[in-house]
Amino acid sequence: MAFDVYEIRRQFPILAREIDGNPLVYLDNAATTQKPQCVIDSLVDYYTRYNSNVHRGAHRLADEATQAFEGARDTIASFLNANKREEVIWTSGTTESINIVSHGLTHYLSAGDQVLVTELEHHADLVTWQQVCHKTGAELLVAAIDDNGELDIADFDSKLSERTKLVAFPHVSNALGTLNPIVELTQKAKAVGAWVLIDGAQGIAHEAVDVQAIGCDFYVFSAHKIYGPMGIGALWGREELLKEWPVWQTGGEMISSVTYQTATWNQLPYRLEAGTPNVADAIAFGVAIDWFKRLDRQAIEQHEASLLDAATAQAEDFQGLTIVGKSKNKVGVLSFLLEGGHPADIGFLLDRQGIAIRTGNHCAEPLMNRLGIPGTARASFSLYNTIEDVNALFEGLKKVKMMLE
Ligand code: PMP
Repeated sequence: MAFDVYEIRRQFPILAREIDGNPLVYLDNAATTQKPQCVIDSLVDYYTRYNSNVHRGAHRLADEATQAFEGARDTIASFLNANKREEVIWTSGTTESINIVSHGLTHYLSAGDQVLVTELEHHADLVTWQQVCHKTGAELLVAAIDDNGELDIADFDSKLSERTKLVAFPHVSNALGTLNPIVELTQKAKAVGAWVLIDGAQGIAHEAVDVQAIGCDFYVFSAHKIYGPMGIGALWGREELLKEWPVWQTGGEMISSVTYQTATWNQLPYRLEAGTPNVADAIAFGVAIDWFKRLDRQAIEQHEASLLDAATAQAEDFQGLTIVGKSKNKVGVLSFLLEGGHPADIGFLLDRQGIAIRTGNHCAEPLMNRLGIPGTARASFSLYNTIEDVNALFEGLKKVKMMLE
């Protein structure tokens, strides 16, 4: 199937918007992606036709909702090549998924143990482990990066030992776009007997994920970064861990039997899904993944790489611009600084031209400190961006530069 970016764009109604008379150029995809019409329709359809609580109803609407909801779980499981559908837990997103794993891990950590993360971490994957370490007396180690934003593998190796209980790293850095060698890192962590969590928030929309082939223990991501709705995400974890680790929240759905004094827990996946779930968004998440799966993956990767290459080439030629993050293995993100302008000013002046980027520390304050900068301007690309968007960014930046002078 040929990949026609203009045909794809027509499926995203928001891309037809104008901002103060300028066509919207949306380059903030690492923050959140836009939604195709089929995902929007799915939400409307659910609330229009079959809104109902799942699993417990004895009526048609409840059956339909349950089928669609559990069908969406199947879709996510097959997308990740999970061994079992029960290994997919609905969460509110990457952040909650990491918190659930960290809650479980708390019971297995004590003084003398170590958790290893990287300097690339988003706050969601740093602060959570940091706090678990504070609580348990375990030590948090941080594997270094080089000045290009690439993980220093020798440093990573040197910080792994039989004391390492968990290793966590991003599939792709949201701030710099660095693509980590996740299979290699997982193998190294497994060799010392550590559990491995991969923060897939930025990887999932750009890289094929096969959790069995990767060999990790947990892969977590948010629907909203892969064309699905906000407020829903997934925790994929190995069955033998998810079924043993302490439950996260208690309440309806997650119990098997209850007395006034005791309770026993339901089977996976329900034991980690207390209360009424986010049914509409889970179904729409499945629709997003189904939509995405039908596209030609290789063509998308080529298209996104060509956008990043074109943007990088223009950035290198742009006087006064410094690219932040120059790994050879990058996906979807161009972070930069412009002489004479604070990133916030760049974002503001681009917005006046209808160009949406993100500025700041990208929830990676320690990484910015490591790089010796307060933050960056970040353009991030998605499958519906075009070379015209890239050109518009640099035309926009020329005007920004003139305004700053
Ligand atoms: N990790 C990374 C690498 C991210 O980019 C993000 C979102 N910016 C998160 C974690 C947190 O995702 P969410 O806010 O959807 O929970």
